[in-house]
Amino acid sequence: MKIRSAFTVLALAASLVARVPATRPILGVDPIHIEASASPCRDFYGYANGAFDRKPIPGEYASYGVNQEIDERNFAVLKGILETAARKGGPKGSLTRRVGDFYAAGMDEARIEKAGVRPLAPLFAAIQALKTPTDLMAVLGRLHATGIPAGFGFGIQVDDKDSSAMIASFTQGGLGLPERDYYLRPGQDADGIRQAYEGHVVRIFALAGDSADSAKAQARTVMTLETKLAEASRTLVALRDPEANYHKVARADLPALASLDWNAYFAAVALPPGESHVLVGQPEFYKALAGLMAAEPMAAWQVYLRWHALRSAAPHLGAAFVDENFAFYGKTLSGATELRPRWKRILAAADRALGEDLGQLFVKTAFSPAAKARALEMVHFHKEAMRARILAADWMGQATKAQAIRKLDTMRSKVGYPDRWRDYRSLAVSRRSHALNVQAAAAFDFKRRMAKLGRPADRDEWHMTPQTNNAYYDPSMNEMCFPAGILQPPFFDEKADDAANYGALASTIGHELTHGFDDQGRQYDWQGNLKAWWTSEDAQRFEARAHHIVKQYDAFEVLPGLRINGKLTLGENIADIGGLRISFEAFKLATQGKDLKPIGGFTPEQRFFIAFAQGWRTNQRPEALRLQVASDVHAPVRWRVLGPVADFPEFRKAFGCEPPPAGQSPTAIW
Ligand SMILES: [Zn+2]
Repeated sequence: MKIRSAFTVLALAASLVARVPATRPILGVDPIHIEASASPCRDFYGYANGAFDRKPIPGEYASYGVNQEIDERNFAVLKGILETAARKGGPKGSLTRRVGDFYAAGMDEARIEKAGVRPLAPLFAAIQALKTPTDLMAVLGRLHATGIPAGFGFGIQVDDKDSSAMIASFTQGGLGLPERDYYLRPGQDADGIRQAYEGHVVRIFALAGDSADSAKAQARTVMTLETKLAEASRTLVALRDPEANYHKVARADLPALASLDWNAYFAAVALPPGESHVLVGQPEFYKALAGLMAAEPMAAWQVYLRWHALRSAAPHLGAAFVDENFAFYGKTLSGATELRPRWKRILAAADRALGEDLGQLFVKTAFSPAAKARALEMVHFHKEAMRARILAADWMGQATKAQAIRKLDTMRSKVGYPDRWRDYRSLAVSRRSHALNVQAAAAFDFKRRMAKLGRPADRDEWHMTPQTNNAYYDPSMNEMCFPAGILQPPFFDEKADDAANYGALASTIGHELTHGFDDQGRQYDWQGNLKAWWTSEDAQRFEARAHHIVKQYDAFEVLPGLRINGKLTLGENIADIGGLRISFEAFKLATQGKDLKPIGGFTPEQRFFIAFAQGWRTNQRPEALRLQVASDVHAPVRWRVLGPVADFPEFRKAFGCEPPPAGQSPTAIW
């Protein structure tokens, strides 16, 4: 799955517009953000957004920009829905009752304080009772089935090489810091974050009732064990190679792969006996894990599991836990200075727990049939533009082109909201305990995913909720998805002109479409199977072009001494660069024969590019930038504008810019 930006996920986002009614229209091209003294040719991001750049970032945000403005408006709609449902309720088992009870329990701070860590007592007891590596595997299964990540990753997914089938999948995991390099990277900065993390673990154990000395010793144990898991983990760049991370293993062969009690785990997660194979993404991680389970005392694993149970639950417990969790994950790691208001945190939890219940109520007010029709028309023109690009690609042979066109023709688009809604009736929600509601929802979701095994892949399912301000391309399904939550002003306005809509959605429709043909997406065929469908000459020519994009982004310096990782962000950068070009051509196709006039002193083409750049306007704290560069496959926003316009003749033409120096390698693939 390819998300548009890590900073647009509802769970992370959140402020101002909800409190302040909009006093001026929301425009896709807004002159108020432009820095007229800047040169559009030298720094197009600074030109389009320079005035916005001077705005302070509200305390509760690590980053604040156009996505957060949209989020705030979406949140305001959702808040109204949740408050009404909590006040009015509804018949037992009804959608509004479920949503209302969930929200009411989350807002009941007095009850949450009184409960303390009691909601975790059964899990603590299971952890306390474990004596052997077999018990450990069983407890890991129990934690995973309750939505608590620890030890390793487990999930149900489409089989990459047989997209009609679902399969259980094991991946590396088990870390409390964002990814392996946080444990292993040398330097003062990294040392500081590791010390802060260990201090955070100490304080969480102390809040759970442990003595100061014991909390300190336990935090050391956690750090030591997680560092060993990190050492056994692949880098983020290595994880981007789908072929290298695909290993289908017969169930009977698992003990030979890693000496773990797999059956104890399978029993705990109720894996159906008919499942003959599983995927193991990183086999060497599991070999190392088996070694650690044999070598480390069970007491150390107990400490580790208790930490992860507390870590997952902390945001849903009393104020001291919430504050401590925010102090590390919010302040230290991302630079936010203020905790988000409670209603936004509970809204995010409700979105995770009952996302499509909320979605049903959201789309009634926030997405019209006319908006859906206009968005579908835009998708149509984007596909036509992509068809032209494929046919015109002078580096690609006829055989590969025919397959690429087949992939384009069969690519599906989901717009707005699902046709069939998820049924949450078997999920029990009550006003008694927020933490238990969160656990029950996670368990419900785990069971729902397990039930997919043995059935054909569900092509109608959505991987994002309708209210999500984000989008994705799913290579296994060969489909794009654009939730109603992102088809909102200024990204999309059914009343806006085409230049504004096509420009702003270049980073969404053009971008997701290009993912089908980026360095990862291109490895999946029209049916969604990971399979070599390119001739080897064409594949080599693709790789050579991709190499230039790696070098282009490797050279971008985000903060003094901090450069973008061109390999880590390659797929997103290909999608950003191609997305802008495809959207520009889609804009031309959509407006063919129309007499477009300048608006506000800008030509239609200039408006297209300004809408694109303003669709990325975001101010980020240095901590958030560092976190993003270290752990995110997306380049920071400024370079998501500068990279794509760098070598685009239509852009230069629109603003009268000089051509790039002769001999410079072309960076666009699409
Ligand atoms: Zn993407």
